[in-house]
Amino acid sequence: MRGFVPVLLGLALASQGLVAQVPTPASTPKPAACIFCRIVAGQAPSKKVYEDSHVLAFWDIQPRAKVHLLVIPKQHVASLKELDDLSVEARAALLSACVKVAKDQGILDKGFRVITNAGKDANQSVFHLHFHVVGGEQLREDAITKDPAPQP
Ligand code: 5GP
Ligand code: ZN
Repeated sequence: MRGFVPVLLGLALASQGLVAQVPTPASTPKPAACIFCRIVAGQAPSKKVYEDSHVLAFWDIQPRAKVHLLVIPKQHVASLKELDDLSVEARAALLSACVKVAKDQGILDKGFRVITNAGKDANQSVFHLHFHVVGGEQLREDAITKDPAPQP
């Protein structure tokens, strides 16, 4: 019974508008519906290349370079905007994993690119933080553009 008191108090305050309601953006899925959370949970397939307690790395389903991997935190956060919701250990593990998978793919020395799209202007399409690790061939000099890539 005692456990209900804070809940009821919270509901009462919320109904009076006294507790800020944090809206969930329509574009941010709940983890249960998030495709990358489903991959982490083993409920959806992936071509996994690396895993530790904080991080999973796997091939992008539509590779746009000879090597195109995604490095994600196992904990659901929507984008880099929510980075502070991850532990310091998870944040460090994410960057280390980007370097590790690049090394494992043999692209560390010739060069590789790490990209994260955060939000609408950046064309983020999956709202679970991920770093694209791309390389294995000469990349376009300037990928920071609103223009479509030139056709070969
Ligand atoms: P964003 O546009 O959000 O930066 O990148 C999302 C990436 O996730 C895209 O490159 C897309 O191809 C990839 N992607 C989307 N759904 C899946 C999936 O189910 N499996 C894998 N491996 N990659 C996915
Ligand atoms: Zn997720």
